[in-house]
Amino acid sequence: MFEPDIEMMKLSEIRALQTERFVKMVKYAYDNVPMYMEKFAEAGITPDDIKSLDDVHKVPFTVKDDLRKHYPYGIRAVPLDRIVRLHASSGTTGKPTVVTYTEKDMETWNNLMARCYSSAGVGSDDIVQNCYGYGLFTGGLGFHYGAEILGATVIPISTGNTKKQLMMLKDMQSTVIACTPSYALYLAEAAEKEGYNPKEDFNLKVGMFGAEPWSEEARKRIEESLGIKAYDVFGMSELYGPGVAVECKEQNGLHIWSDEFLVETIDPDTGEVLPEGERGELVFTMLTREAMPLLRYRTKDLAIINYEECACGRAHPRIMRIRGRSDDMLIVGGVNVFPSQIEHVLMNIKGVGDQYLIIVDRDILDSLQVQVEVAPEFFNSPDYDQTGFAKKLEMEMQAVLTVRARVEVLEPGTLPRSEGKAQRVLDKRTI
Ligand code: ADP
Ligand code: ZN
Repeated sequence: MFEPDIEMMKLSEIRALQTERFVKMVKYAYDNVPMYMEKFAEAGITPDDIKSLDDVHKVPFTVKDDLRKHYPYGIRAVPLDRIVRLHASSGTTGKPTVVTYTEKDMETWNNLMARCYSSAGVGSDDIVQNCYGYGLFTGGLGFHYGAEILGATVIPISTGNTKKQLMMLKDMQSTVIACTPSYALYLAEAAEKEGYNPKEDFNLKVGMFGAEPWSEEARKRIEESLGIKAYDVFGMSELYGPGVAVECKEQNGLHIWSDEFLVETIDPDTGEVLPEGERGELVFTMLTREAMPLLRYRTKDLAIINYEECACGRAHPRIMRIRGRSDDMLIVGGVNVFPSQIEHVLMNIKGVGDQYLIIVDRDILDSLQVQVEVAPEFFNSPDYDQTGFAKKLEMEMQAVLTVRARVEVLEPGTLPRSEGKAQRVLDKRTI
């Protein structure tokens, strides 16, 4: 453990620390960020109304649009000369959202990342090949400094150049790989194509995977093909970056580092706080952020929080697997479909490859199409029958989704591979 005193706190101790920090943070945000002063005035409250965690529901939400409105320097509580780093989200739609850090924020974030690595058993004798993108994206530098603080050897290779990645995995005998789960699947496939046997040629033990939703089935495939243990890491640029929550050795939910983050689950439609154990939108309050305080930040990520103490001894509440974002949910002919449900069905079927693309279109009615690659072994086997296989996938999918999806089975290697976050959905209705 990287910080055992904090990681092993009992839930009551965590709550006490959260209360103290929360009350202080509300006042700090109110005093230093004009946006919060305005939001509080609109809600008819002042920091004096916030005395404990029970008052959290009185505090107004913060949403992504608030960050966009405060472009370029974001929601900032300190003068620029105290800002030591800036990151920005991809901003595929409109302006990017910019996030800022003070020196202390950097220290906090790096420590959180170090905790994540050590939760997965990574230590100073490990060699970490970091294939997250270096740059404005928080993944690269987040995974970099966390490993460096632990004293591990970091290979800052960044994304892309798959052949070189494979060569380094072999030559440097990297023990840890950090990348998106979709890239891990691609690396495993490419390794085979290039004539490597990952279990013999590489020395990998652990994978630190995050930045996008992935299924239990994808985990199994990654673990089997690379011969590693695959750990899930959750975060987002607004909340420092990666390192908000991570799995422990139990691999049964991701511990949210609750000395730094207060989490709530709300009904995404009404904003009501949901009782413990119900699936809803995760809302985070940052408890010590200096540069960019965020109170009750709505993430749009949908998940269930488990408040039971984990078998590992940690009482930091756990995010059970993230289903996806409320804005990823597809409504096809009135039926709600999550891409993660489709992945779940597909990856459970033998003979299905690692790559798929969901295409939604509208003619007179909405239509759902899934293009999916066949696994190479199956493609080359005498049992493979393209039409029959497509029919089988259609039936399996209909049973789970209650909406008809047309399945097109493709040869291995047809769909584009991603080096970062995978694009699994093409919604032609919005183009
Ligand atoms: P952007 O993609 O907008 O540049 P981020 O990289 O900060 O911003 O993306 C954060 C989002 O990525 C989260 O809100 C969540 O939807 C998704 N994400 C990150 N880690 C995970 C994970 N381990 N499992 C599922 N989704 C994740
Ligand atoms: Zn645990």
